[in-house]
Amino acid sequence: MAVATRYETVIGIEVHAQLKTASKMFCACPTAPEPGRPDEPNTRVCPVCLGMPGTLPVINRRAVELVMLTGLALECHVETEAVRFERKNYFYPDLPKGYQISQYALPLCSNGRLLVPVSSKDAEVSIGITRAHLEEDTARLQHGGRGHTLVDFNRAGVPLMEIVTEPDVRSPAQARAYGETLRDILRHIGASDGDMETGSLRIEGNVSLRPMGSERFGTKVEVKNLNSFRSLERAMEYEVARHAEALETGEPLVQETRGWDEIAGRTVSQRSKEEANDYRYFPEPDLPPLRPSAEWVARLRAVLPELPATRRARYVEELGLSAYDAGVLTADVALADYFDRVVAAGLGAKAAANWVTGEFSRLLNQHAAEGLRASGVALPPEGLAELIGEVEAGRVSATNAKAVLAATFVSGESPRSVIEREGLGQVSDTGLIAREVEAVVTEFPSQVAEYRAGKQQIYGFLVGQVMKRTAGRADAKLVNEELRRLLG
Ligand code: ADP
Ligand code: MG
Ligand code: ZN
Repeated sequence: MAVATRYETVIGIEVHAQLKTASKMFCACPTAPEPGRPDEPNTRVCPVCLGMPGTLPVINRRAVELVMLTGLALECHVETEAVRFERKNYFYPDLPKGYQISQYALPLCSNGRLLVPVSSKDAEVSIGITRAHLEEDTARLQHGGRGHTLVDFNRAGVPLMEIVTEPDVRSPAQARAYGETLRDILRHIGASDGDMETGSLRIEGNVSLRPMGSERFGTKVEVKNLNSFRSLERAMEYEVARHAEALETGEPLVQETRGWDEIAGRTVSQRSKEEANDYRYFPEPDLPPLRPSAEWVARLRAVLPELPATRRARYVEELGLSAYDAGVLTADVALADYFDRVVAAGLGAKAAANWVTGEFSRLLNQHAAEGLRASGVALPPEGLAELIGEVEAGRVSATNAKAVLAATFVSGESPRSVIEREGLGQVSDTGLIAREVEAVVTEFPSQVAEYRAGKQQIYGFLVGQVMKRTAGRADAKLVNEELRRLLG
């Protein structure tokens, strides 16, 4: 209560994202096993990524490009002078060379910002991006039983991008929103899979509290072991409460690294924080300085895809979608791309959004376990447009259209030909409908009498009977007109 309002929360976030490249950062080893093959430990290794003496690294061009693309998306300055790779020296069994090649003094990208939506309202906060730089991943350690530890070098040397924010984040909820927004962007531009579950995205939160109105930062604590954005938010909440209490009781806080214990719901001290000079950074003598040409940067700027926030705004302002629908569509690039193509096929945006976020997404979710995305659906966007067109023209009922969608979603057939073949087309023949309505009224005299006596619910039953006789194909609008006319 009072404590919460006496202090201001200050958070800065560090993200490590595995870059989506085919080969490793400084050698030709693949970053992933061949599709369908299991990932046997220590099979994607070579003398370079095993840190053998006498080997030389070669810079992965695509990795450089993906960091620049990210930098552009985050409105960063992209360094075109002379970015030096530097050695960060430390010993650990997951680091075969005894140092990690990273960027330190001059990062490839710096000084950007990310606008983060912070509530259901239209509010957003601007989070400064200090830097985005390139480095290499370490091996994976597997601590087994009986005190043994196994090392798998398949991950050693995989391209990694580190993105660091300014201490601009003001609450645990903002921290989470920042993480989610950044992940969406990385996925959107194809820089990273951005999966926290598989470790392709790792996040650390730095947090401190200071008295309201104070300019000076308080003692900072770094929290690791965060397995989800929810963990990030919970861990930050835990630390905010812990710091507030320490400040209230005058207990000293130490600058340290803490780990999040998901099950216990608390952080535990891991080690006191190391200083940059512990690492003895120095320029990597085996690599030339990186000088991306201005043309290269311009070319990337030109191919930078539309970002989720811009796309969301376009959907609302130009296409007239609700903020909700725009949010659902842009949360998944593949879905938004599919939607765009349905619209491009000539369909009204609102109808397209209804079907794509409705029935189409429902079917996608049914196949979520197989990892199916909109881009992998057999029915092309033009096919969905064709089906919606048939509904709008009154040639198929909405109910039958859903059945046709379910079938063509997996078969990829033209919905129009399925409608013809299965005889699912809507009956708009007024003569035929009149005859069926009349037959129902004759068949159920007591129900008709009840309806006329004021029992409104009976109406639905009568419509249902007409639909049954026409196998659901009768144009509901015409059935209603005819039935109301006969019932008086
Ligand atoms: P370190 O050298 O300890 O890693 P950095 O200066 O690299 O510290 O900052 C790491 C992260 O911590 C950055 O995101 C930065 O914005 C954030 N940060 C720095 N000082 C504070 C502070 N007092 N409170 C919260 N976050 C901070
Ligand atoms: Mg740091
Ligand atoms: Zn290798």
